[in-house]
Amino acid sequence: MKTYTHHINGEFVPAGTSTTLDVIDPAAESVIARVPDGSRDDVDRAAAAAREAFDAGPWKDTTAQDRGRILFALARIVRERAAELAELETRNTGKPIVEAEFDVVDVATCFEYYGGLATKIHGDVIPVPDNAMSLALREPIGVAGQIIPWNYPLLMAAWKLAPAICAGCTMVLKPAEQTPLTVLELASSFADAGLPPGVVNIVTGAGETGAAIVAHPGVDKIAFTGSAEVGKSIMRGAADTLKKISLELGGKSPNIFFADADFEAAVEGALFGVFFNQGEVCSAGSRILVERPIYGRFVDAIAEKARAIKVGPPLDRETKMGALVSREQFDRVRRYQEIGKREAKLAVGGGAARGAAIDRGYFVEPTIFYDVDNSTRIAREEIFGPVACVIPFDGEEEAVRIANDTYYGLAAAVWTRDIFRAMRTVKNLRAGIVWVNHMQPTYVEAPWGGYKQSGIGRELGKWGVEEYLNVKQVYINLSEQPIGWY
Ligand code: NAP
Ligand code: MG
Repeated sequence: MKTYTHHINGEFVPAGTSTTLDVIDPAAESVIARVPDGSRDDVDRAAAAAREAFDAGPWKDTTAQDRGRILFALARIVRERAAELAELETRNTGKPIVEAEFDVVDVATCFEYYGGLATKIHGDVIPVPDNAMSLALREPIGVAGQIIPWNYPLLMAAWKLAPAICAGCTMVLKPAEQTPLTVLELASSFADAGLPPGVVNIVTGAGETGAAIVAHPGVDKIAFTGSAEVGKSIMRGAADTLKKISLELGGKSPNIFFADADFEAAVEGALFGVFFNQGEVCSAGSRILVERPIYGRFVDAIAEKARAIKVGPPLDRETKMGALVSREQFDRVRRYQEIGKREAKLAVGGGAARGAAIDRGYFVEPTIFYDVDNSTRIAREEIFGPVACVIPFDGEEEAVRIANDTYYGLAAAVWTRDIFRAMRTVKNLRAGIVWVNHMQPTYVEAPWGGYKQSGIGRELGKWGVEEYLNVKQVYINLSEQPIGWY
């Protein structure tokens, strides 16, 4: 069992206090590592290192080409260490190894994308009246505080680190307390990738550690991914120092199936939309809206297929659904399974999953409720586990009304063969991404973020780097005449 420390100013350093957090393998319910529970002092040290690296250099003087090369080097290292990182991710999260391998490839791709983008960020020259020139420079925002969740630990770290490095920021990142291991392992390669000390600092800890980063006067911006509830407290916490914030929050995303959709593809799409990564996905299609003419047949078909989903040991390559990340998350999902039994009809699942290969661990059954009313708790609250609500509808208008009847607005999907209906529905849905005849593909090139209470700002693509840039206007007087006012 390994004991980790914070990564501050290019070194693994002991924490200021001896309080530690146990890191669990949720499939075995065993402690696999310990990390420091970062104190305010630890955050101070990390923020000071990031501040110094930003203000004094050598980071300040790196060129966009240098930053691009560092990002490409990080990508190469991730690819070289892919097997090790994927296995560690699976051991720490409980997700199937095959999915962890996809995640690690996505991590490398994210570093590569922003490596390429680094040399393509430039400002503007604005034509102004008078004999003058106006420039808009784009400068790094400064020290970024980055706080991430446990569902895609290394990928969420990459989504934060890559654009910030690309922009020329320095950063203090706090992984989720449950899943700090892969990003700490990656930190051991930061120097090899050419990152100067202090540019990327990793401080482990729980909510208090995150709150200390948010409150810190030496931090210029907060990028947060997590629950809407914590997102709101971050917005409040950032107000005192008026930090820029970007928030990627939760969802209760509708996956809409019209009667003319390709039936087989639709059945698969409904299950993939909500059960991938144990349903621990911010964009999970947890509300499955089905048009009446196919409703009964559709419920039967998804229930039958869900029953056959292989819940098993995360390291088994045949496993399609692993363990939930923690005891807390397991209890939460079990609670909603019971609430659902009171609020709607159960088609499949509804309990913990147990079998010969999984006699312990936080495994639950893929669960589908049907005849769900959109006003119930299971249809309104984010469960963040493999629990689906099937809701019937009549026609396009009702589908859109139910779909939009949520505080959230992260994602939605629509399945139909009618291109006119597809595009009308896309236009009427209030969500940051709408998939047509698919659900979940996410690309680093394209924008990601929420409408409504699903967040503020956008990650990924050229939008993602904007969150880490400031705009400075430069006015250049080209006239040698005095102003002549007084
Ligand atoms: P969470 O409880 O909101 O925690 C997210 C992060 O914030 C963790 O690192 C957490 O530390 C930290 N934190 C907790 N309280 C804090 C506070 N008062 N101040 C500052 N930081 C604080 O979310 P989670 O349970 O880890 O993840 C699940 C949620 O994330 C879901 O709602 C999901 O939808 C959302 N999510 C959204 C996206 C997206 O792109 N929109 C992607 C993935 C996940 P601890 O680890 O100690 O709690
Ligand atoms: Mg939490």
